[in-house]
Amino acid sequence: MKVQLFKPKYRVEECLKEIRECLEIGWTGLGFKTVKFEQAWIKYTGLKYAHYLNSSTVGLDMAVEILKMEYGWNDEDEIITTPVTFISTNHAILRNKMKPIFADIDNSLNLDPKDVKKKISNKTRAIMFVGLGGNTANLKEIETICKEHNLKLILDAAHMAGTKYTDGSLPGADADAIVYSFQAVKNCPTGDSGMICFKEKKLDDIARKMSWLGINKDTYARSTNKDGAYKWKYDVEYLGYKAHGNSIMASLGLVGLKYLDQDNAYRRNLAKIYDKEFENCENIKLILTDKDCISSRHLYQILVPKREDLISKLNENEIYPGVHYLDNTEYRMYSYAKGTCPFAKYVSKHILSLPLHLDIKEEDVKRIAKIVKENVV
Ligand SMILES: *Cc1c(COP(=O)(O)O)cnc(C)c1O
Repeated sequence: MKVQLFKPKYRVEECLKEIRECLEIGWTGLGFKTVKFEQAWIKYTGLKYAHYLNSSTVGLDMAVEILKMEYGWNDEDEIITTPVTFISTNHAILRNKMKPIFADIDNSLNLDPKDVKKKISNKTRAIMFVGLGGNTANLKEIETICKEHNLKLILDAAHMAGTKYTDGSLPGADADAIVYSFQAVKNCPTGDSGMICFKEKKLDDIARKMSWLGINKDTYARSTNKDGAYKWKYDVEYLGYKAHGNSIMASLGLVGLKYLDQDNAYRRNLAKIYDKEFENCENIKLILTDKDCISSRHLYQILVPKREDLISKLNENEIYPGVHYLDNTEYRMYSYAKGTCPFAKYVSKHILSLPLHLDIKEEDVKRIAKIVKENVV
């Protein structure tokens, strides 16, 4: 039987019921379910603000743009970031004409606080932190560094939907901006969408205008627009994006959120079985996690000596693993920083993500682990 890396699971009847409501009342766009999903997300995370977007990529772009605008950062000012991430993270910095400064990662695959400190300059304005695979490791130290050096914190939480600390608190709750992803193969999938959560109301207000071309309906809405008359009378305050979420995607998100804790627990259990299978295996390195992290377990990753050979062997057995991620400084766009993060470079060659999703059973994990152990050299 084929085992894919990811396989999203939808509660089809429940999703269709939510979507049916949209179709019956003729409201598939912004508002209605998007508002419900924002409220549900605020309730679930305990965050103050949440704005639903059509991707997390655009959320990261908006986070950098709005912070830059509001805090008066300049072009060429620096944001310290990780080289081991999906390229959306670092494009957000570059697209806003700021400079990504890459700090190395450690055995947790998250930013190494020691190297981050070394990379701080008088042009540093923020740290961009990615909780890889749902792992919170080093986040608290990074939060402390941000406070000590008066830097903003942007949390790329694309893998962290449902990640918590054992005391129930939310990782990064105090970050200036947190951006979640509900893309098709993330652990709370919708198709495509994301959530941007600013700490300050003022920035949340700006995000709401920015995500709809910079349109500001407030002034006219208050005075004249009680029943939808004069809809075209608005002001345009920003050069915004077309980036707000829609009610069809939000319908999937609303159902997914109901099952998120349960689904993440299932993922964590599979990860635990992998861990147990691999303990004492000399050639397999597990990823360091914090004791107080209840991870979403978006990914299960290991480091192996000869990755490409192992991938071929797994493929022969119809098992399809993945790689998250190649060192971004190897890409042409970021080649100015090539070689600045030696451990990231090593990880880039040896990291492997094993299949982890809700259709995988305990037996599947054991079978995959067996093939890995037999072929890892
Ligand atoms: C998937 C991903 C994104 C982008 O998410 P989209 O919702 O697809 O735009 C950003 N950062 C990381 C780390 C990701 O894995």
